Amino acid sequence: MAKIGESVISKNIEILCVCSYNNVSKSLHLFFSLTYMAILEEKFSLQKFNTFGIQCYCKIFAEAKTINDLKSIISEYCYNPLPKLVLGGGSNLLFTKNFEGVVIYPNIKGIELVKHSAESTWLRAYAGENWDNFVEFCVAKNLGGIENLSHIPGNVGGCPIQNIGAYGVEVKDVIDSVEALDIQTGDKIIFTNAECQFGYRDSIFKHGAKNKYVITAVIFKLRKQPAIILNYKDVIEELRNISEVTLSAVRQAIINIRRRKLPDPAQFGNAGSFFKNPIVSVDAFQSIQKKYPMAPSFTVDSEYVKIPAAWLIESSGWKGVREGNVGTHESQPLVIVNYANATGNEVVEFSEKINKSILQKFGVDLETEVNVI
Ligand SMILES: Cc1cc2nc3c(=O)[nH]c(=O)nc-3n(C[C@H](O)[C@H](O)[C@H](O)COP(=O)(O)OP(=O)(O)OC[C@H]3O[C@@H](n4cnc5c(N)ncnc54)[C@H](O)[C@@H]3O)c2cc1C
Repeated sequence: MAKIGESVISKNIEILCVCSYNNVSKSLHLFFSLTYMAILEEKFSLQKFNTFGIQCYCKIFAEAKTINDLKSIISEYCYNPLPKLVLGGGSNLLFTKNFEGVVIYPNIKGIELVKHSAESTWLRAYAGENWDNFVEFCVAKNLGGIENLSHIPGNVGGCPIQNIGAYGVEVKDVIDSVEALDIQTGDKIIFTNAECQFGYRDSIFKHGAKNKYVITAVIFKLRKQPAIILNYKDVIEELRNISEVTLSAVRQAIINIRRRKLPDPAQFGNAGSFFKNPIVSVDAFQSIQKKYPMAPSFTVDSEYVKIPAAWLIESSGWKGVREGNVGTHESQPLVIVNYANATGNEVVEFSEKINKSILQKFGVDLETEVNVI
């Protein structure tokens, strides 16, 4: 792993893997250009590149290990009408069919020191860094701000997309800026935190900037004097016998809780929470509460509250229900699990049944958190 201040980005010419399964390329081809080498294969399976473990193929798979690779890929395909999909760790995606286009895989690694002040350290982490490795790195350096986001799968490049959040922290609180390349022109663009338009599991990258940019790196502003955030009773409970609550103690507590509560995608394919927690008006919530006095909620502001989707799903009888290859997880009903070789469509159909029954019972329409492709 890189030390702070040390760039791990290789300046060497890198290999670009381009894998295609169109009928023209029956055998392995090698293309050499001035800046990179391309390998074409008959087809490229994405099964190991999505945590749901759905078997599907893309037409072209283009892996970039450096920014220059990425620029080469963009100039190769910018005039190509095929659709493009940027892939990170594949932990928030559901493929429902083969992707008949170009999958761009920015597997660019590295962590660099940008600058520091008396209170903060700014780090640039490249898109292909595993998110949890980056959290571990920061915790080991006693840099605070993302320890509550420990053990979330995926890569650094994917973290701003839905503004990942857990245990009272959202990544927007520590993102200084996001660096990206325009998929059409290859031009570099920097989004400030405000320009990212972060919201609850939301950002500009799910709206106006969707599929237009490849995020190459994220700059984080981390605290040198960490302020530990302990809002969740599970975390407080997990730490009750710890005399000194350090960043690494919080990280370990959260890892322990998540290991107990969430299915490991290596065992059962899943993409974490399938639905977002719905935000409803206070009036709508009060009418739910009349029928279901135990209904939980979290205040959003004076007009809106958030209802835990897991409670809605469990109260509608869907906890631990399995239908064929798919089901809701026994201890976390918000997670839909691929029990055995499910197709993406089986997952979607199952999720639609859940949504329909919640709409009928509570009048609440759940929004999917996972990106259905
Ligand atoms: C077991 C489990 C637990 C989870 N827990 C949480 C949780 O607690 N909180 C939470 O918020 N999420 C959680 N998630 C969801 C997921 O891990 C995060 O959303 C993660 O940040 C997705 O990153 P990724 O690299 O895997 O993105 P992918 O799944 O590869 O992609 C997701 C979206 O981002 C786009 N994208 C990815 N990388 C880039 C890039 N470099 N440039 C441009 N676009 C890009 C893709 O096109 C796609 O639209 C969980 C998932 C699992 C499987």
